[in-house]
Amino acid sequence: MNYKNFPMVPRVVFGRGSFNQLSEIISPKRLNTKAPFIYLIDDVFKNDAWLTSRVALSYDDRIIFVSSEEEPKTTQVDDLVEDIILSFKERPSGIIGIGGGTILDLAKAVSLMLTNEGGAKDYQGWDLIKNPGIYHVGIPTISGTGAEVSRTTVLTGPTRKLGINSDFTPFDQVILDSELIKDVPTDQWFYTGMDCYIHCVESLTGTYLNTFSQTYGNMALELCKEVFLEHNLTEVESQEKLMMASWHGGMSIAYSQVGVAHAMSYGLAYLLGIKHGIGNCIVFDHLEEFYPEGVKLFKKMKKIHNITLPKGICADLSDKDLDIMINTAMGLEPLWENAIGKNWKKTITKEKLKSLYQKM
Ligand code: NAD
Ligand code: ZN
Repeated sequence: MNYKNFPMVPRVVFGRGSFNQLSEIISPKRLNTKAPFIYLIDDVFKNDAWLTSRVALSYDDRIIFVSSEEEPKTTQVDDLVEDIILSFKERPSGIIGIGGGTILDLAKAVSLMLTNEGGAKDYQGWDLIKNPGIYHVGIPTISGTGAEVSRTTVLTGPTRKLGINSDFTPFDQVILDSELIKDVPTDQWFYTGMDCYIHCVESLTGTYLNTFSQTYGNMALELCKEVFLEHNLTEVESQEKLMMASWHGGMSIAYSQVGVAHAMSYGLAYLLGIKHGIGNCIVFDHLEEFYPEGVKLFKKMKKIHNITLPKGICADLSDKDLDIMINTAMGLEPLWENAIGKNWKKTITKEKLKSLYQKM
């Protein structure tokens, strides 16, 4: 047996208003006055002085507002890296990502690609990164993906959607300030929150499960139930609990794997550009045969929060398009092995996936 030796986020601050400590936390990491801190911030905050006025810029520090309308791409990472290299005389002192999974993943990828040669697409896979990245800080403004704790940054490349998984990927510092998630619109709150719930279900029912994953997964699942099923939480409690659910859900899959919903949702993302949270929900809604209890509860939560998912998104797809999605999904072998077992290829056929996609 050879057990994996995983890195974890070495430093984390938790607390309402802790975002105010950002400057104090990162100042000692400034290499010199020519090595700036680069802030990648979701452009939803562009005109939001409540947040941006608390980002203290000194010397050559810069804010780059980034749209999260589309999921991060390898080319987008390469462009950002080139822009940073051309704009400054020295490598940055740090990259600070402020946003959801999209921006957090971009911050991780930019940090890694500033110190590793070539393009981001060359590093999609497992343990291909050779050099530690630039000091990088993650500050989530929406909760559920677990990108704040994970060892991956998920990117869409020329041939596939796949993470850069490496020991250098996790953030050096995370700031969990639940106040930052207070204005997330309800639909998005639900989709991204369900990403966490689905991480728990897929991890807890998977064949890769072990006590490390199970304990984190159970904690996250209980928190999700409190947030999405009970109505007696205050807003602050609900925000804090969801933030910790996301963290524990991410920790749970670190030492196991996700499953069917994620594999199939990657197919939807790759071909149709459907984003991770909503894509997972669209798929999970049809997965009773794999996750009977989990899907039942999901439907209940959907009803409580009046969520209507899009229908018929695969109705008009050609066989060629369906094949692209099926191949993307089936290529994620560890996810299927975790969900079904070593003999997954006996039951998960192209026809099977086609019939599932056609229901969506
Ligand atoms: P997101 O980052 O794409 O954001 C979703 C929407 O919410 C955007 O429109 C954004 O502008 C908005 N938003 C964010 N914070 C807000 C706030 N405080 N107030 C108002 N609006 C706000 O969504 P996400 O679900 O967090 O992330 C999805 C991405 O995460 C995908 O690219 C997926 O691949 C990735 N992901 C990564 C990991 C990982 O471990 N690295 C795990 C799961 C998902
Ligand atoms: Zn996910």
